[in-house]
Amino acid sequence: MELADNQASKKIPPPIERCNKVDLLGMDREMMAAYFVEIGEKPFRATQVMKWIHQMGVSDFDEMTNLSKALREKLKPLAYIRTPKIIAEQYSEDGTIKWLLEVDQKNAVEAVFIPEKNRGTLCISSQVGCALECSFCSTGQQGFNRNLESWEIAAQMWAANKALGCKPKEERRISNVVFMGMGEPLLNVTHTFPVARLLMDDFAYGLSKRRVTISTAGVVPAIDKIKAEVDVSLAISLHAPNNALRNTLVPINKKYPLEVLIPSLYRYVEGGHSKKHVTIEYVMLDQVNDRVEHAHELVALLGELPCKVNLIPFNPFPNTDYTRSSNNAIHRFRAILEEGGLNVTVRKTRGEDIDAACGQLAGKVSDRTKRTVHRVEFDAAARNDVLDVLKGVP
Ligand code: SAH
Repeated sequence: MELADNQASKKIPPPIERCNKVDLLGMDREMMAAYFVEIGEKPFRATQVMKWIHQMGVSDFDEMTNLSKALREKLKPLAYIRTPKIIAEQYSEDGTIKWLLEVDQKNAVEAVFIPEKNRGTLCISSQVGCALECSFCSTGQQGFNRNLESWEIAAQMWAANKALGCKPKEERRISNVVFMGMGEPLLNVTHTFPVARLLMDDFAYGLSKRRVTISTAGVVPAIDKIKAEVDVSLAISLHAPNNALRNTLVPINKKYPLEVLIPSLYRYVEGGHSKKHVTIEYVMLDQVNDRVEHAHELVALLGELPCKVNLIPFNPFPNTDYTRSSNNAIHRFRAILEEGGLNVTVRKTRGEDIDAACGQLAGKVSDRTKRTVHRVEFDAAARNDVLDVLKGVP
């Protein structure tokens, strides 16, 4: 989202003050240990500093009391923990909180916290905008600006904990994290994987791998990297049971069609624990992908894949031609999938106050792809998506 220029100039320090120092916020344990070795220190300093940053919410070296004064002084000119600035905070009646975080002078990204009875989920962004142009997705209509860096992604978790007033190890209000905000996380693995590792690291946030979910439109080479490099939970934005339809909804399907994507999902679950599965996201678009024949095709497509299907009633946004499937169509669709042996959940309709609230923070991405930039609202989609995937994870 683009900030008004006058707002941006007031809030962001000039670049010169922010450069030439190493930012520790987005480093996973291996990177941090390598950094300390590089500056002539013992690698175990990494875990000490990680605990201060992520578990205690500390960004000032002087507060890191188990580091010697000499080390603290040494670190000051070399490194820092860049504190993200929250430029807007919005509360929903149902407890959802949305933060707008500035990332540079032209753009800001969102993180959404969704509290539920037995868990609290944070939905984080991985890119400013999105390049994939899925036709039903409002973020896709905004255009793409850039990848977020690791620190900017980690900053969303750090800032959310701070804003909630909790220290993750003492009070875990954020129990689950999903990469389902703006952007395609698997087109930015250089920066999303270290953050996923941090989320699961006992010296940082210590979430189990079942509680960290990467959602992708289907970037197959990166799906193949997950198991070896980060081993998080996986959600696939499938949305169609055949290539012809999926090409129109999720254009990256032209590059990685279903006959390439589906085998990669089998590879992902292969050799995992007995409950390992893929969450299949399927947005319900009236008369587009919600017909009886689509449901049968989906059953045939998913076959024996260990998966859970989340049907997501479409959230309309300005300038879209799609509409939400009727409840009857959704129930009929669900029944066919279940008869076919699939595990299915449907998002329950939520209070209207969320949609109303979301509109207030709608903004723009400063689009480098020079596409037409629309004013959009993507938060409802993010929220619904999160709620659906939550049904597939502990
Ligand atoms: N690029 C990744 C992560 C972004 S989350 C991905 O494609 O998975 C995107 C999710 O938001 C999609 O799975 C989709 O289910 C959901 N979504 C996007 N626009 C939506 C809309 N208008 N209504 C309902 N869900 C939407």
